[in-house]
Amino acid sequence: MGYWRYCRHIILATIITLAIFIINIYAPSPNSNIEKYYQNELILYENYFYNTFNSKIKYSGQIYFSKNIAINLYAVCYPGPMWLTNIKINYERWKFLDIYAKEELIFHELGHCLYWLNHDNDLIELKVKNKFRTCPKSIMIGTWDIMDGCYKYNRDYYIKELQTKINLKRGDL
Ligand SMILES: [Zn+2]
Repeated sequence: MGYWRYCRHIILATIITLAIFIINIYAPSPNSNIEKYYQNELILYENYFYNTFNSKIKYSGQIYFSKNIAINLYAVCYPGPMWLTNIKINYERWKFLDIYAKEELIFHELGHCLYWLNHDNDLIELKVKNKFRTCPKSIMIGTWDIMDGCYKYNRDYYIKELQTKINLKRGDL
């Protein structure tokens, strides 16, 4: 009797272990791990923003990946209920970006969503790999090829430029 009860538990435990094993094979758990990894990456870049611009205000909206976004867009800051905003990121584009472009993208969207900055479509000549080329004057440019190297090779310039814009906004507050 006692032996059978013990045995039953072993059998039950084996069945459960097998079931979990099978579920793990068929469930998209590796994908969700990748998504979790990228979600943590978003938090990392958000914190970069606070540190870089010495931002005392934190973003109260959500930054998240969404499939419900136009294919040609990298990200969008959109108004939610009340005064809240959210930032949707296009994962299909995000996964091909380098660390510079990812930073630029999150800084741009937080520029909109946290400091209510508008697009600035002015252009400027900047050095990219020892050659001058036309670049955005600001991270807050409306449409641009984010992987063109402008930000990567002139990060300090763009950080300073955005800091100036943010300081002006802070003065308004
Ligand atoms: Zn924008």
